[in-house]
Parts: sequence; C-alpha cells; structure tokens
Amino acid sequence: MQGVRLPGDSTVEHVSVSVPEPGPGQVLLRMRASSICGSDIRAIYREHLGHGAEAYQGVVAGHEPCGEVVALGPGTRRLGVGDRVVVYHIAGCGLCDECRRGYAVGCHSPFRAAHGWQRDGGHAEYLLAEEVSCLLLPEPLTFVDGALVSCGFGTAYEGLLRAEVSGLDRLLVTGLGPVGLATAMLGRAMGATTVVGSDPSAERVRLAEELGLVDVGVSDPGALADAVDVSTDGLGCEVAIDCSGNAAARESALRHTRTWGRCVYVGEGGSVSFDVSNLLIHKQIRLHGSWVTSLLHMEELLERLVRWELHPEVVVTHRFSLDQAAEAYRVAAAGEAGKVCLVWED
Ligand SMILES: [Zn+2]
Ligand SMILES: [Zn+2]
Repeated sequence: MQGVRLPGDSTVEHVSVSVPEPGPGQVLLRMRASSICGSDIRAIYREHLGHGAEAYQGVVAGHEPCGEVVALGPGTRRLGVGDRVVVYHIAGCGLCDECRRGYAVGCHSPFRAAHGWQRDGGHAEYLLAEEVSCLLLPEPLTFVDGALVSCGFGTAYEGLLRAEVSGLDRLLVTGLGPVGLATAMLGRAMGATTVVGSDPSAERVRLAEELGLVDVGVSDPGALADAVDVSTDGLGCEVAIDCSGNAAARESALRHTRTWGRCVYVGEGGSVSFDVSNLLIHKQIRLHGSWVTSLLHMEELLERLVRWELHPEVVVTHRFSLDQAAEAYRVAAAGEAGKVCLVWED
C-alpha cells in the first residue's frame, strides 16, 4: 500500500509498505479521512524536534485517523467488520495511572506509542490500530468529522471541560487555527454566550466569522483589549483559552480573563512570561494546562456532536488525496488555512 513519511525538511516522502496483519486485540482499518494537525507541522514536517512523546520515529505520518474496520485480530471483543471508527491516536500500556484514567496521552510506559509519531499513522491506505483505541463513529457524523475529533476537536473539548465552560460564561479564544476554531464552536455549544476570537491572520478571523463561530473576531492584536471590553462591559471574559502557543497571545488570554475566571493553555510549544501578581494572583484566576483528552471524553464528544447537530468538518478548507500529500502539507504549513484533510473517496 501507499503511505507518506515526513523527512523533516518540509517535504513529504511517498513510500510503499506492506498492509499490516492485525495481531491480538488489534484491528485493521481502511482509512477514509486523515487530517493534518498543527503538531505535525511544528514537530515533524519542518524539522524533527521532538523528544519523548513527540519523538518522530520515521513511521507513516498522520495522527488524526478515521476509517472503517476491514479485519479483526484474535481476541477482539467489540468491533466488527464494517464499523466506522475514530482512532484515539495514542496507544498506551493500559496499566499505568494515566492509562487507567483514560489519558493514554500521558502514559509513562515505554510501550506508549502515538500513531504518526512512534507507530504508523493515518496517511496510508490502511492503519493497524488497537481495538481499545477505536471509538465508534455515530451517524450522521462523517469520516472527516471523525478525523477532526481524533486530536484537534478532542483537545479543544478537553480544554473547555477543564475550564468548566457553561452558559454563565463569555469565552475568549486566542489563536484561530483548527484547534481555536474547534474551541469556539464547542464552547458555544457548551453554553458560552459570547465568543471573542483573535488571530493575527485576517484569513483565519474571516473564516471564524463566516462560519459563525465567533461573535467578534480580531486580527489586530492592538484591538483585542477594546473588543473584549466592549463584549464584556469592561469586565473581561469568564473563560479564556489560548490555542496559539504564542507568548503574547498567552499573556493576552490571561490579561483578558475576568477576576475569578479560568484560563486554559492548550496551544503547544514556546514559553511565556507575565506579571504574576497583577495578572494571576490578584485576579484569583485558575490557570490550567490541558493536553489532548481522554478516551471517555472523546467518546462523549462524539455523542454530543450528534445531539448538538454539529459537524467539525465545516472547519476543513482543503481536502486532498493521499497522492497530493505534499500540497496538503504545504497548505497546512502556510498557517492561513482552516483544517487540511486527506480523504479517500469511494
Ligand atoms: Zn494533534
Ligand atoms: Zn500507560
């Protein structure tokens, strides 16, 4: 079968590999959608900068896979051939405290392996997955919806859960890349009454506005303070979530969090410095870090998306075939697009 690897010099490499056989507790999936995540660009495509959980081991890329079961290994207990599944993209040991919590992302064991990082990912015709990592994709969600949940929307949902977003809150989202767009969409569904979004890319702000995901979009960082003041009567947002990983945006997220509010850092990488007394302590703010999500929360999100009648795929601006992976990565790396997804049509 055909697959794609990322050499780490802003190119993609097409390779031919054999179709894997499912072992005990494993399933073989035919890929139907496999999206590109910001982490793929940051830590693999441009350069291989990761260590530990982010060390790329030359495998087939893609950690947002969604497909259908075509073969079952011995001892599988839940799935059947033809099932449509989302893959929680990290296989953990199943035995450590983080795995027991359902957060295989935090698994401490040397057996931990993320698809697209340490074990083959979704940028190939077939994917070998652990049955325990697969979540049934409910109708009417599409394969593209499912791919987006497997990392980005799951990550956004977890950040919102951590902030306990509800109808009591107004929400600020800094960074309107795919995770930021997801945070705005799900934050509103969870009750946020006003959503303010900021991103230095005017394209991304326009996309968020066109999709109706934000009430107020800001592309000029200097205009954010006024926009938040106008939207919140000068009080600040009860919840702010940074999805950018940018130092200035992290500082603004905290700055525009209301006293006694909650601020969550979801965007990865880099560093931040801020005036701790004035921005955090004296405002009695709860500041959280949030990394990916749990198996249970991802399953819960799939159910809720159906009830909310939401389709994550609306944030997809570019679809490509596997053959066009080089172009797909180029578009994703340019940082102007919404979500970029590889798809397999029938
Ligand atoms: Zn990701
Ligand atoms: Zn573990």
